[in-house]
This record gives sequence, structure tokens and C-alpha cells, in this order.
Amino acid sequence: MSELNETHDPELSSWVSSANTPGHDFPLQNLPFAVFRRKGTDEAWRGGVAIGDDIVDLAACVVAGHLKGMALEAARAASGDALNALMALGPGAASALRLALSRALRTGADRVLADCLVPQAGAEFALPARIGDYTDFYTSVHHATRVGALFRPDAPLLPNYKWVPIGYHGRSSSIGVSGQAVRRPTGQVLPAGAQAPVVAPSARLDYELELGVFVGPGNALGEPIGLDEAEAHVFGMCLLNDWSARDVQGWEYQPLGPFLAKNFATTVSPWIVTMEALAPFRLPWSRPDTDPEPLPYLDSPAHRTRAAIDIRVSAALQTPAMRARGEAPARLSESSFRHAYWSVAQMVAHHTVNGCNLQPGDLLGTGTQSGPDETESGSLVELTRGGRQPLTLPDGEQRTFLEDGDQVTFSGWCERPGARRIGFGRVDGTVLPARQAGPR
Ligand code: MN
Repeated sequence: MSELNETHDPELSSWVSSANTPGHDFPLQNLPFAVFRRKGTDEAWRGGVAIGDDIVDLAACVVAGHLKGMALEAARAASGDALNALMALGPGAASALRLALSRALRTGADRVLADCLVPQAGAEFALPARIGDYTDFYTSVHHATRVGALFRPDAPLLPNYKWVPIGYHGRSSSIGVSGQAVRRPTGQVLPAGAQAPVVAPSARLDYELELGVFVGPGNALGEPIGLDEAEAHVFGMCLLNDWSARDVQGWEYQPLGPFLAKNFATTVSPWIVTMEALAPFRLPWSRPDTDPEPLPYLDSPAHRTRAAIDIRVSAALQTPAMRARGEAPARLSESSFRHAYWSVAQMVAHHTVNGCNLQPGDLLGTGTQSGPDETESGSLVELTRGGRQPLTLPDGEQRTFLEDGDQVTFSGWCERPGARRIGFGRVDGTVLPARQAGPR
């Protein structure tokens, strides 16, 4: 796991003055990665690093000759239209680049990178990696219990939950970057009281407030990744919305789990915050005394010391009426990844215990991050108790599930005394009406 070093010093400031704004997501201590180009151009997509309101154009840095050694090698690997090559190099390369950029962007440094800056406001973003495989976990015991109670009131939490980091293989082809317009899916649903299903647009479209984990170096097929090595195989984390059609899910999910209720769209934030940037926000990993101890491959002293991460996440909704009046999105909930029952390292160790091979750029979802309190729920199905208790928004509008035109925005950040606050930026997506004709 990444250790604290000079790049985390909370006293550091940057000659890019916007980065020093209190509460900014992208101070010098963050330096997250994305793939971008200038908006409205046909420029090549390339990697960039956020600093304040700007982006350090890594391809331009390479051409300008401002970097050397492993930092140069890392920037070169990040100069293409996806970050897979950088991810494959491992944490040492990204860390060398982080250190070089931190030093070059500090107050007092020669401003040689000034010519390599692109304003974020004038940029558009692509998916940060070519995602070969996508797996979604279910790491919040609070989410699992609340959703389980809706589907199975008599047995909310299945007996395997406290032993197995539950997940399912999702679909990478429908993953999009923030700004994605999500067509309301049509599918098989079983109306209440009906004996047979119908095909209809989902009437219970929901979001899931999750974090994404981008895999760094992979493992050979047949070679598991040990728990204490797991984070060396992780590049960083982003925000993730696992759009979900609850009515489709309720009918189709047994016995093999999510299928068409989930694979029509998944939206990620453009920025990936590295595990190194998250180092100041680590916490001990523990579990209630009354719960079973993890099996040996999911447990270690080092893991217990600092495997949890306090990443705060929040969800907000802007209805078309709010948008028309120019009103900001209304916050629906807030929680933290610190409440997760399983850590990032446990997700990786479990995913590979059978020899399954992860590859650079693979994406792991954490599952909906709901906290212990009901108000900390990361999905509408929890906040509205299965659609039975509508939410009332600040303008008086009500929602049980998402309506056409609704925009869902997630944000994420880390803060604690003695560290500089860092943020994940945002991920947003808007619901489009179902296809008029429906399936034929
Ligand atoms: Mn999910």
C-alpha cells in the first residue's frame, strides 16, 4: 500500500493558483489522471493530470522534454487515447510521474509546464481506459441488508455474505464517461399480482452510488494475487453509477443474479484518483466481534492496519423542472466507503483466488455504498423503501424512481484534519425516454 511522502504535504501550494482554492477537488496533493482533448476539436485523445482548473497535457509534456527517467516513461505511456499502458507499468511509474509533476507545479518552481496546461472548462473527456472486463461487487452490508429485505423480507442477508465478497460479471461495452445520456431500458417485468410477465419500459429506473477501481498490472492466468500484494495491482479509483432497472431485476435475478437490469449503462467519472493520493485517508479495517473472521486469504495484519479508505460520496438529482428554473441539483444522500464490509484489496484477492486473470484497465465496481443510517442509502430503492415512500425534493416535486430528463450527479472527496482535502470531481448522467417503438 502507498506510503505518505513529500507529495502529500498539506502545506504544499501550486503556482497554478486555482489549485490553492480551499475545498477545490484538484489541489497539488491530488493529481488524478484522465483522458481528454480540447472540446469541439478532432485532436487526438491523450492522458492528462488535473491541477486546479487546468489539465497538464501529458503528451505535450513528453514533446516539450520537461520530464526524464521513469516519470518520462510514465508520461509517454499515458500519451495515447487510453491509460492502459500506464496502468500496466505499476504504481512505481505513476508515482514517479506524480513526484515530478508535484515538484514542477509547486509554488516557486520554474513554470516550464505553463505551456502544457489546458483549461478543464475547454476540454471533453473520454473513458480513461479500454475496459476489457468489468466486475461489480456488493461490498456494503448496509445496502445488501436493506435491498435484501425488499426482495426477501424473511432473509435479507444471505448466509454467504459475511464470507464471500459477492460480485457478478458485468458488461464493459455499455460503460460511458460522465455526461452519458442513458436510454430508459425496456425489458421483461412481472406486474404486481400478474401471472405472466410483460415487455415494457422500466418504471423503476434507479441509480447506484458506487466507486470504481481500475486495475493496474494484471496477473497471469492461474496465479492468484495475495491480499498484501493486491493494491500493487490497483491503479486508482473513480466514481461510478451502476444504473439499475429494479422491476427488470426483480423478475430476472434468480438464480444467476443481475443481467439485463444492469447492463444497459454504467457511467464513470473522467478522473481516476490514484491509490497514492488516497494514502492520507486510510483507516484500520475491522469487523464486528459478532461476525465471522475472514478466511486466511482475505485477512492479514497489514490489511487490518489500513485497508479501509474514508472516501465520502454523495448523490444529487436535478429534475427537468429544476433545470428549467436554473436550480442546482438537490442532494439525496451522503455516505463513505469506510463503511464497506470488504476492502479493495479483498475484492482483488477474492477475484483472483481461483486463478482468474485481471488485466490492466479492468474495472471493478464496489457496489452501492450505503452507510449504516437509512439516510445514507446510495440508491432510490432504499431511500424510498422499494418505491413505497416517495422522496419530496426541495421544490416540492416527488420521486420514487427516476423520471425522463432527470440528471443524477455523484461527487466524492476525502478530508481529515492534517491532510489536504482532495476530490474526485463528478459523474453525471441523464435519463432519456424509452425507445418509442419498443422491441420488435
Ligand atoms: Mn451495483
